[in-house]
Amino acid sequence: MKLVRNILLLLFIMVFLSGKNEKSPKNVSEVSISNASLERVEPPNWWVGFKDISLQLLVKEENIGNSKPSISYTGVTIEKIHKARSRNYLFINLKIDKNTKPGKFDIVFTFDDESKKTHTYELKARQKSADDFIGFNSSDAIYLITPDRFSNADETNDINQKLKEITIDRTDGYKRHGGDLKGIKNGVDYISNLGFTAVWSTPVLMNDMQQGSYHGYAITDYYQVDPRFGTMDDYKNLADTLRKKGMKLIMDQVANHCGLEHWWMKDLPFEDWVNDQKNYEENIDNWTYKAAKFSNHRRTTNQDLYASESDRKGNTDGWFVETMPDLNQRNPFMAKYIIQNSIWWIETLGLGGIRQDTYPYPDKDFMSNWAGAIMNEYPNFSIVGEEWSYNPLLVGYWQTGVKNKDGYESNLKSTMDFPMQKAIIEGIKEEESWDKGLVKLYEGLANDFYYATPKDIMVFLDNHDENRMFTALDEDFTKAKMALSYMLMLPRIPQVYYGTEILMDDTENPGDHGLIRTDFPGGWKGDKVNAFTGEGLSKDQKSMQYFVSKILNYRKTSEAIQEGKTIHFAPFMNTYFLFRIKGNETVVHIINKNEDPITIDLKRYKEVGLEGKTLKNIITGEEYIWQDSILLKAKGSILLTSKKS
Ligand code: CA
Repeated sequence: MKLVRNILLLLFIMVFLSGKNEKSPKNVSEVSISNASLERVEPPNWWVGFKDISLQLLVKEENIGNSKPSISYTGVTIEKIHKARSRNYLFINLKIDKNTKPGKFDIVFTFDDESKKTHTYELKARQKSADDFIGFNSSDAIYLITPDRFSNADETNDINQKLKEITIDRTDGYKRHGGDLKGIKNGVDYISNLGFTAVWSTPVLMNDMQQGSYHGYAITDYYQVDPRFGTMDDYKNLADTLRKKGMKLIMDQVANHCGLEHWWMKDLPFEDWVNDQKNYEENIDNWTYKAAKFSNHRRTTNQDLYASESDRKGNTDGWFVETMPDLNQRNPFMAKYIIQNSIWWIETLGLGGIRQDTYPYPDKDFMSNWAGAIMNEYPNFSIVGEEWSYNPLLVGYWQTGVKNKDGYESNLKSTMDFPMQKAIIEGIKEEESWDKGLVKLYEGLANDFYYATPKDIMVFLDNHDENRMFTALDEDFTKAKMALSYMLMLPRIPQVYYGTEILMDDTENPGDHGLIRTDFPGGWKGDKVNAFTGEGLSKDQKSMQYFVSKILNYRKTSEAIQEGKTIHFAPFMNTYFLFRIKGNETVVHIINKNEDPITIDLKRYKEVGLEGKTLKNIITGEEYIWQDSILLKAKGSILLTSKKS
């Protein structure tokens, strides 16, 4: 037995050696080509036919920095290869000629010992022409959703054991609740019936964080959907479902920071990939709140003629919070990475817009290049940037076309109207006096003289970071209707936060983020109240839903509201009249704060030219002839149109 075993062993060694001999170093290609995919090549694919013919590939793989890549594909050239500080990265600059055909090719990485690894890369054909990516505009009304809190259509994805935060707890406002992309998709009919034409969901990309992962703003992989929100196909299905209804999908993107658990944080490619990196790397095993150098949040340093350099850097280079490393967009590889990531998502999902988070925090020259690169590829696209400021000068600074003293051109089409939001809430809420109440709406809107294009600004009453509108207005139903109807009449792009149409509140603890992002009733199995069907809603909630749907469905085809001229009159006897006019269509919005019936002389509004015209109440359908005076029977808002339906 022993002899047999030894002979077998000998035979085995001979076969092994002969095999080894065949694969001599002279025949390397057969020896050690590894076709196993590399750890990462990003973007994971690209397209032919962009105006910008350059493409930067980030390659991450152990020791890949010690290899030399080569490509053999007509129309694709390696322009430059960059090694990084970490030898586990390689940055490859490709040139994709205009006439390059879509297809797959191998990138072959040859190492010093002549071993090789290959990666198959794909250049796809674009699905539609660049001009057909139409961004949101003043013809749209946007419904904002916090996806974890809207609807849980797939309970199987609620918990993912491979990720760091595995708890799900609907009683805790800061834990995951299970809402997902399929839930949003299931809600598209509801959203569309309300009259909305666009959906903005807060981020759904991978947030593999220890805690607080539900909010999505600590991205740990810019090319992956968080599996707790669903799959890439779920995201594409949502985009398709919206597109088929003529609706737009707006993606929430974050260029300022990533999540601390981002895959690159353990092995940063360059010494300046994130800001304050040295400090982070020295304290990496004991990274705490104390170690982090935070942003001073002095956002005015972007505009301030007198800002010190230290204040300016303090704003842009500090970390947003200790779990969100501040990306250094002055590193050209990082800059290109972020730009390409945005374009990759626009092309992959056929987006109808981007909402960019924390706009005044990244390097502002980079932000101009970023927006410029996108608008260069997609001239009809829209991006809205978040400048959370109540100062119109700051909001206006970031909008393309404004003449800034420092010459800054943002390339950004849309900004957010925090000033008007504050003016509406305060003005509706306050008792009337010379400088309080409705005059705040009147004077707030007067600030439009400063904006480059007021109609491209996004206006709202509440969002995922702020008091629910109903709470901010002391849960006064009449005031809620006044505020909402006025907001929807403005020369703007209106955005409504999910649940505002059913008067959701955060009154129990105003401002608490968990409460602001409460679960939408009917989105979870067993919910007793269902806002999708109306089951269990109160009379006021149903009334508000109806009110919103009436206004928005009118707005959908109203050229006067979407792009008409605006005329308003100074508040008078506790009333405020606003007109939107285009051709034969005049829409009148009246706010009346008087508790008792009041008759208003209409001679004051003569210049609008409505005398003798029959108008129709947009909500009730009642007809009204515009003559000498109007009797306002009750406190509230009235919407009239001259359009014959
Ligand atoms: Ca789920």
